[in-house]
Amino acid sequence: MDGPEQRQRRVLAVGAHPDDIEILCAGTLARCHARGDQIIICVATNGDMGSMTHMPPELAEIRRQEAQESASRLEAEFYWLNFPDEFLYHDHGTRMRFIEMIRAARPDIILTHAPDDYHMDHRIVSELVFVSSFISAVPHVETDSAVHSHIAPIYYFDTLAGVNFLPTEYVDISETLEKKLEMMRCHASQLEWLGKYNGIDILEFIASVARFRGLQSGVRYAEGFRRADVWPRTGTVRHLP
Ligand SMILES: [Zn+2]
Repeated sequence: MDGPEQRQRRVLAVGAHPDDIEILCAGTLARCHARGDQIIICVATNGDMGSMTHMPPELAEIRRQEAQESASRLEAEFYWLNFPDEFLYHDHGTRMRFIEMIRAARPDIILTHAPDDYHMDHRIVSELVFVSSFISAVPHVETDSAVHSHIAPIYYFDTLAGVNFLPTEYVDISETLEKKLEMMRCHASQLEWLGKYNGIDILEFIASVARFRGLQSGVRYAEGFRRADVWPRTGTVRHLP
């Protein structure tokens, strides 16, 4: 088996909602892209509850287009799982869908939500990714795609606003913060929803967290991660840029 050292690394990021990856790890994905990795972006729910002006079916389509446009900025492969916003459950069918997604994505490393983040959809995604990436390498569990060659390391990205999250690894995103913000701006429906109806300037929010993580790690802007330190996902190699 070729290790990621011999060929292009495949970096899979899995977010609960269509803009989570931009908020929590897009600066790192941009660095991975810049070093030649293939980026794969997976969005679990369709985000169809996040608006006062669009009805859910229309909003889901808008958000799919926004997320796909953002993913295209990193030439990413894009998986849209289309589960309902606010009602993601860890049941048998959902787990099988995640196993198939991970097999199709064939990741060398996975970035996803921390197990104790603020939103239940985030927590469920974290759990689904954890268990499904393990089972993706179990041959007797059959899905459309071939069994994955290994159990990939997982890096949990920051919680919203960094609350109750102590990073163990930092990635310098001083050069890619602009790309991260550019990707977030693709989510026009959310800039409106968060700004006009929730009073949150999400671009300032993102820059503030990045500055704080930068302060902690001695650079201008950073993103923080915590590796899932369980066998056999550990190792001696630093995978993040
Ligand atoms: Zn979210």
